[in-house]
Amino acid sequence: MLKELVIASHNSGKISEIKNILAPYKVKIYSADDLNLPDVEETGQSFAENAALKAEVLSSISGKPCLADDSGLCVDALNGRPGIYSARYAPHRDFNLAITKLLQELKASSSTDWSAHFSCVIALKIPDNPTRFYEGRVNGIITPNPHGNNGFGYDPVFIPDGFNKTFAELTTEEKSAISHRGKALKLFLDNEFNGKNL
Ligand code: IMP
Repeated sequence: MLKELVIASHNSGKISEIKNILAPYKVKIYSADDLNLPDVEETGQSFAENAALKAEVLSSISGKPCLADDSGLCVDALNGRPGIYSARYAPHRDFNLAITKLLQELKASSSTDWSAHFSCVIALKIPDNPTRFYEGRVNGIITPNPHGNNGFGYDPVFIPDGFNKTFAELTTEEKSAISHRGKALKLFLDNEFNGKNL
């Protein structure tokens, strides 16, 4: 049973989201900053490779169980780009520029099918155990007209299947119920806690 867990991230939004979800459980959460752990460069070729790399390196340095995730937007007409490069797609991680660049590339492509999905892979490394993976995905389409003020990143241009609003027009709770990260975290909870540890 997990008694303590390091979140391999320096992103305060991500850490508080995971802390909230794990609040009912008796597990002590540390952020990478709490333990002065370094940034791990994402040199993998897939979401799973990057998540595993971060979880394994920080678990080995800290000696504690470690959870890491990697996520991104994959656009069919762009052969899955920006994918693992979603965060690094625009200069200075400016998402207004990233959205403009994405829409320009889509308009320049000959495709009228703007289908896309978000993926998230969570890796859990417990010392002396093989890394375990949990994956979530949400399908949708890219809209040429960004709208909504909630969320982050590519949310203003992503309309999830079954909705006529972008991710940026959903509340945090509505988004978490259907999002790639929400689904991956639910699988992680169901498998690692299974209602125990409360
Ligand atoms: P990560 O923090 O390395 O997983 O980077 C994920 C990147 O993918 C973010 O910086 C965003 O560009 C994009 N991304 C992942 N999840 C979402 C989401 O829920 N909404 C919008 N953009 C996202």
